[in-house]
Amino acid sequence: MNRKICVVGAGAVGLSTALKIQTECPNAKVTVLAKEFYDKTTSFAAAGIYLPGEDEFINDPAIFKKWLQDSWDHYSKLCNSKDAGKAGAQKISGYFLFKEGYKYKRPIFADIVYQFRELSNEELKTISYGYFITTVVLDPSIYLKYLEASLRKNGTELIKAQVNSLEELSNDFDIIVNCSGLGSQKLANDSDLYPVKGQVLKVEAPWMKHFTYVYSYDATCYVIPGVKAVTVGGTREKGNYDKRPDSKKTEEIWERALGYFPELYEAKRNYVIGGLRPTKLDMLVKPEILNCGNGKSIPVIHNYGHGKHGIALSWGTATESAKLAKSLISNSNL
Ligand SMILES: Cc1cc2nc3c(=O)[nH]c(=O)nc-3n(C[C@H](O)[C@H](O)[C@H](O)COP(=O)(O)OP(=O)(O)OC[C@H]3O[C@@H](n4cnc5c(N)ncnc54)[C@H](O)[C@@H]3O)c2cc1C
Repeated sequence: MNRKICVVGAGAVGLSTALKIQTECPNAKVTVLAKEFYDKTTSFAAAGIYLPGEDEFINDPAIFKKWLQDSWDHYSKLCNSKDAGKAGAQKISGYFLFKEGYKYKRPIFADIVYQFRELSNEELKTISYGYFITTVVLDPSIYLKYLEASLRKNGTELIKAQVNSLEELSNDFDIIVNCSGLGSQKLANDSDLYPVKGQVLKVEAPWMKHFTYVYSYDATCYVIPGVKAVTVGGTREKGNYDKRPDSKKTEEIWERALGYFPELYEAKRNYVIGGLRPTKLDMLVKPEILNCGNGKSIPVIHNYGHGKHGIALSWGTATESAKLAKSLISNSNL
């Protein structure tokens, strides 16, 4: 019998998870349900760079590293494939600089990315510490469409719908995979999950080829070129639920960026966008048997809480979720 699997959510996490499940479980009928697609998701706002810090993920660094490695293996392959342009995937080099407040810790991705090199004192000048890396960036304005198209090609249905509770899906599906990002506050009843609002400008500046990320306590500033747009950021506002851009903050971001990168001066400012990073201390891929009442229960796989690294981590957590879905199908009477 063909199992019916519902993936809730159509951001980078939901689409990647649906695609990985459809590949791992070719006989399953996978459906994506989401109240918002593409440019209405948080994923669309992202710069899309693979530059994951481990600060939030304190529970199990080994699992975190595995997700990172699985993501990297996939993205680096994509970057070197004939699909790179269609997927908005490119290799990118640049600087990560700590203006102040740096406590030395070798980044978790140092041994994963193409190149990682600590900067010398001559290079650092007034900066406290920094490194030069070569990594990948996935332009979400292209990548999300690529994932959607790949899913449709594989026979996955994508449906716009609001889900009010996971229980309500139990009559129509055999397995639910919850990739609803911040929506999991309600759908998974998770009060540890909170938004960290981010706001960026998307500009046209094709002469900007390197990324630079300047970390500072109060005003981090970055410029990250993607295939279509250069992302100039940014902000981090914990607990702000209003994703609409704030015009005063836009001008602050822009002024700060011009201060660091005068070469942006002639850039065409295309649009400003805000997004709510779905954040929790220990992000989550976790199976659960959900009791739906009337003696009925349904397996759920949760995959949410990716915070500021949802593009970088999404393929890794999708891989883990697909493994869980596959073993649920083969080890049970589902
Ligand atoms: C400004 C900014 C820059 C960023 N830059 C980067 C970066 O460079 N690299 C990186 O790795 N990460 C970056 N991030 C983080 C990244 O964008 C997020 O971690 C990622 O988008 C989370 O993906 P998601 O699929 O979990 O959530 P989302 O993209 O928010 O998707 C959630 C989905 O669930 C659906 N949904 C929610 N509730 C319901 C419901 N009740 N019923 C039906 N559907 C529902 C939504 O409609 C949506 O489709 C950035 C974020 C921001 C804001």
